[in-house]
Amino acid sequence: MLEVILKGHDKFYGVSDVVRMFCGVPEEVKEHGRVIAPEGPDILLINELFEDGRSVTYSPEKEYEFDGELLEPGREIKRSLYMALSDITSKKMPWGCLTGIRPTLVACEEDSPAALEEKYFVRPDKAQLAFETSREEQKILSLVPENNLCIYIGIPFCPSRCEYCSFVSSDISCHMDRLKNYEAALEREIKTVASSINRPISAIYIGGGTPTVLEEKEFSSLLDSVYSNLKISPECEVTVEAGRPDTITDGKLISMREHGITRICINPQTMRSETLARLGRKHSAEDTVRVYRQASEMGFGLINMDLIAGLPYENAEEHVESTRRLIELAPANITVHTLYKKRRAAMSREKVMDIEMARGRLDDSVAASYALLKEAGYHPYYMYRQKDTGHGLENTGFAKGDTGNLYNVAMMSDCRDVLSFGAGGMSKRCFAQEGEQYKHRVERCPTIKDALTYIERVDEMAEKKISFFEMQG
Ligand code: SF4
Repeated sequence: MLEVILKGHDKFYGVSDVVRMFCGVPEEVKEHGRVIAPEGPDILLINELFEDGRSVTYSPEKEYEFDGELLEPGREIKRSLYMALSDITSKKMPWGCLTGIRPTLVACEEDSPAALEEKYFVRPDKAQLAFETSREEQKILSLVPENNLCIYIGIPFCPSRCEYCSFVSSDISCHMDRLKNYEAALEREIKTVASSINRPISAIYIGGGTPTVLEEKEFSSLLDSVYSNLKISPECEVTVEAGRPDTITDGKLISMREHGITRICINPQTMRSETLARLGRKHSAEDTVRVYRQASEMGFGLINMDLIAGLPYENAEEHVESTRRLIELAPANITVHTLYKKRRAAMSREKVMDIEMARGRLDDSVAASYALLKEAGYHPYYMYRQKDTGHGLENTGFAKGDTGNLYNVAMMSDCRDVLSFGAGGMSKRCFAQEGEQYKHRVERCPTIKDALTYIERVDEMAEKKISFFEMQG
């Protein structure tokens, strides 16, 4: 059992995040100032922060301290602990001691990938990825004026539930009756809030769940409501997550075209039908190809396709083969996710982590996918990490030319306000801070997660959002 005693600070999150990378989910015993990892090596470590900003992690036998320029205290304590655990376990992490979800934020502060390697022990390929992506993100973000809004509209229903799913989505087969009421409530919320918040909009993302799970009539009605209530300029980016190919019909594609939507996501996750069936998705790889071709022929020029690396029931080669097949289709964007585990998913954390450990090749397959994408003319344009991804890896969006998705970049940046409609959405206001170029102070306003309660309390949700956006920084 690993035990880390915190001395001179109380940064439990930082310590836990580093311990988690090496030793599984730890327990924070705050009253005794320690973090315990039952699966870790048998050792007691002291993680100390001194008044002069130095941090040393030490065992009875050895001390670990970085010899160089000091980082801010939160990063410094993680760095010395990382040095200790990396040495004790003989493991190195691809992202070194960076534990946050946005490594590109740290990369923005540096003037070369080498600085990420030296200061944070980031592996050279990941340092290069973060550096390159951070510059691309800044370029895209500059297209969204500070006062402009990004809008999220959530439909938390799906035709069935994927085994790995972590979202607040409901299986529509059990909740058919709710869908119509939900859609009506959503339209009501959009109408009420939109009449009070009068700001230009740069990007709209209709996501979920799977918005195309709505019947054609309801789907078209939702788009009518979006286009009639929100002030959508011709430059505004509007994306529809048409995630599951089994929910996409001619009628829905026509409706999107008629409303002016050009950007859609068709997400296969894997191009192996056997894996899809075992995961509980009700479509095959052939369905994906058919729907993709149908959408392309109708003139949808900006299509994103998501893949997941590290899925159970398939090996590393099969993931790379899926990437190859998507490249052949040539969508504008391909996003490579790494399987991760959140509390709500049916798949256990152990299963997610075991898959990766047993195989030990997830890292290689992700690298091989990236290499194929680069060779095919795609470049990374946004990136984020999630806790408990296999091997601490990342999710990366790749784009051809200037086709990167504005909404994704702006939302992840925490530098632009997001107004969110629908159950489970998170609105946020981002306030610039003096002396901070890339980091804003963020205030959040959550919407109730449960769809049924959302329907009942939609007016209250709308009022709450209106007040939130009236708030002065
Ligand atoms: S399609 Fe997406 S949101 Fe729906 S169940 Fe599958 S992973 Fe979850």
